[in-house]
Amino acid sequence: MKNVYSASTTVKKLAFCLLTALTLPMILTGCGRREEPVSRTDFCFDTVVSVTLYDIPRKDGERLLDRCTELLTHYDREVFSAHDERAVLWRFNHADPGEGSLTARLRSADVDPEFLALTERAFSWQARTDGAFSPTLGCLIDLWNIGGDPPGPVPTREAVAEALSHSSPEDPDARLDLGGIAKGYAADRLKEYLTGEGVTSAVINLGGNVLLIGARPDGSPFRVGIRDPGSGGESSVILTIPLSDQSVVTSGIYERYFEEDGVRYHHILDPSTGYPADSGLSSVTILSADSADGDALSTACLVLGAEKGQALIESLPDTEALFITAEGEQIRTAGFPEDLAGYSALTPSRSRD
Ligand code: AMP
Ligand code: MG
Repeated sequence: MKNVYSASTTVKKLAFCLLTALTLPMILTGCGRREEPVSRTDFCFDTVVSVTLYDIPRKDGERLLDRCTELLTHYDREVFSAHDERAVLWRFNHADPGEGSLTARLRSADVDPEFLALTERAFSWQARTDGAFSPTLGCLIDLWNIGGDPPGPVPTREAVAEALSHSSPEDPDARLDLGGIAKGYAADRLKEYLTGEGVTSAVINLGGNVLLIGARPDGSPFRVGIRDPGSGGESSVILTIPLSDQSVVTSGIYERYFEEDGVRYHHILDPSTGYPADSGLSSVTILSADSADGDALSTACLVLGAEKGQALIESLPDTEALFITAEGEQIRTAGFPEDLAGYSALTPSRSRD
């Protein structure tokens, strides 16, 4: 059996994430800055993350970035990790399940209130997306092992059915996985902290989950590049949009995957089948004020497909989406910004004023 993975070693994985973070979305900075930007790159949430502060003295900036690193490390390793034994989520998943449902256990156990609040938000998105977003796919996600090193192999149909039968919040043996919403939530918390410290212009980029604080120092919008899902290792930008003070989250089937016998198995699972979503979409980008919401919605829409996804997004206030199909067609909700003419062909490594 042939099992090929695009990034099967830690080094390859890091290189892949670096490329993704450089590219998606690409932030083009402005001219006329009064201070040089202060930036920090870390490896968190199994991806490359960066925070860039504009228009702030270097000394203050470094202090704020130290705290950003602490916050990211905290949320990644101590709260939302499914693999780190210190994490609230890991400990919840590995506690004796007892007889009650997962939801009953969540509410009765001595669970960290912040963790409980995000889990409840995730359940509310599950209800609002017709189950397409599901925070209780832990057994299936472990089975598919798409984030493993090496990932896979493809499980048997029986094993998928068995794991699927433990994917309901009513099941005592179900396991939580908040990988579809945690990065967005962490980005929101970073934004809250930074704005509380007086930051008015910044870019938080958690492996492609981008949250913008304000506009560029000269008051003009940031320019955010959306990756072409068909660009493979080259990671070119398919369009560039002007944005300020918003969250831009993309879910794509190219982000994590492995191939076996010529078939690609990606990391976003359809809770109704137990298999990688096969909705005809290659990526979904959501614009919203809140990044946790955008994160949940991008994952959900990738499962729902363009038609249902578009109807869902059009029903939500101040939320826009871009769907890119497997054939490369772009479908946008009514308020999605137009491509900035002349910037769509920029290559990933370049940034321009
Ligand atoms: P994202 O990249 O935000 O779309 O999230 C993908 C991650 O969310 C996966 O790596 C899993 O940890 C988790 N996940 C996979 N499928 C789903 C789903 N249908 N609903 C919620 N989370 C999911
Ligand atoms: Mg998501």
